[in-house]
Amino acid sequence: MRISVIGCGYLGAVHAAAMASIGHEVVGVDVDEEKVRRLSRGSAPFFEPELDSLLTAGIASGSLRFSVDPREARDATVHFISVGTPQQAGSDAADLTHLDGAVSALMAAVKDGDIVVGKSTVPVGTAERMAQRLRGTGATLVWNPEFLREGWAVKDTVDPDRLVVGVPVLGDDAAASLPGTPTPEGERAAAVLREVFAPAIATGTPFLVTDYATAELVKVAANAFLATKISFINAMAEIAESTGADVVQLADALGRDARIGHRFLGAGIGFGGGCLPKDIRAFTARAEELGRGDAVRFLREVDEINLRRRDRPVALATEALSGSVHGRRITVLGAAFKPHSDDVRDSPGLHIAARLHGLGAHVTVTDPAALENARRAHPELSYVADRDHALRGAEVVLVVTEWDDYRHALDPERAGALVSVKTVIDGRNCLDPSSWRTAGWDYYGMGRPSVRSRAAVRSRAALDDRAVSGALV
Ligand code: NAD
Repeated sequence: MRISVIGCGYLGAVHAAAMASIGHEVVGVDVDEEKVRRLSRGSAPFFEPELDSLLTAGIASGSLRFSVDPREARDATVHFISVGTPQQAGSDAADLTHLDGAVSALMAAVKDGDIVVGKSTVPVGTAERMAQRLRGTGATLVWNPEFLREGWAVKDTVDPDRLVVGVPVLGDDAAASLPGTPTPEGERAAAVLREVFAPAIATGTPFLVTDYATAELVKVAANAFLATKISFINAMAEIAESTGADVVQLADALGRDARIGHRFLGAGIGFGGGCLPKDIRAFTARAEELGRGDAVRFLREVDEINLRRRDRPVALATEALSGSVHGRRITVLGAAFKPHSDDVRDSPGLHIAARLHGLGAHVTVTDPAALENARRAHPELSYVADRDHALRGAEVVLVVTEWDDYRHALDPERAGALVSVKTVIDGRNCLDPSSWRTAGWDYYGMGRPSVRSRAAVRSRAALDDRAVSGALV
């Protein structure tokens, strides 16, 4: 099939390359000339395993090309839209200007019978509005939200967990129709997408046809659920910190309940990235617009818990350095918001590094993939590519991204010989505390007991006991 992909960022570049790899003829369109130049050379403008080889193969075979000109989409019959929908400046709502711009550009390129496929994450109700804008072009709009995970984007695109396709449905007034029955154009569009995604469907990927609103909501509801699960265990970490309990053991025991599961149940410094934070805020803002703010008010709490976790490593570092980080040397291991990515959008670790710098610490940041992006976002910090070099002379080491390079490949004995003080704060609970303690380190985890927190718990118990005994007397 002839496919265009409008917007070639994390989602669109991977989607374009993946579509070419399964036999389609693809043109990717982006307004960013530099991005288009790099993609045309087969080089992804961001770190994503397997993407470069997919790009190179697609370009070499002639089935994949990139352009800044939206008119290049004219030959295509299926047009994916994957432009960004960031948080609006000064508001929690999503900024839909890129989406509106992409639809305007497409209106000059689409023809009767074409299918326009929205993939961007949008507030519920957006697809209906875009469909009205496209009316008159003869093209049918469908909404096909994307669930890919950065770092696994190629695999997730070629072999997704599920495909959700929101199509136009018959109105309530249509005689004898069940609610949600696709219109004839909707049926046809769903059939075309079945063809587009035939290889995944053939290997058992469920293909779920819904109305627009349900498809839009599946995406934001999924992200709201994941964010809630992370903030739930982080709230438990806060309780653990005041009681001497160990949130890692707690999560392990909880996760063994098949109804709960272990995934997304790791306490740490919270979620970040270009999706979860802005998606839960946009969801809340949209629900409030719809007069249903009460239904998702808990997402504000989820967001607050998440942001609050960024205080913890700062407090631990301050405590470890006897009350002030000013003038002290802190090495931050990680900058990307998660491993296998160079994305630093709303990265909790980088945010913490900048806070420590703001408090006067000499902060050195290292990361296997994200240094360039981190430097652009926070030019005030010092960056060192070599991990061991970054560790030299540190008085506190802070792990903020659970790269294998830190969780498995960092030997506490060897690291201990490089730093000046053996204090490590494990913002992702990804190190083995006993091997670090055995090597002489003061180890602090998130929601995990330390010698200091145990002492605080014991003295609180003594106070409680005195209060109870006093009351009994
Ligand atoms: P991104 O910022 O990396 O990419 C967006 C791209 O769109 C940019 O390259 C930009 O130049 C381009 N663009 C903007 N306006 C354009 C226009 N009028 N015509 C052509 N190109 C235009 O964003 P992203 O991370 O790829 O996210 C895109 C959408 O996908 C968002 O709605 C996001 O929430 C959603 N999403 C992202 C992921 C992810 O992991 N990154 C996963 C699922 C869903």
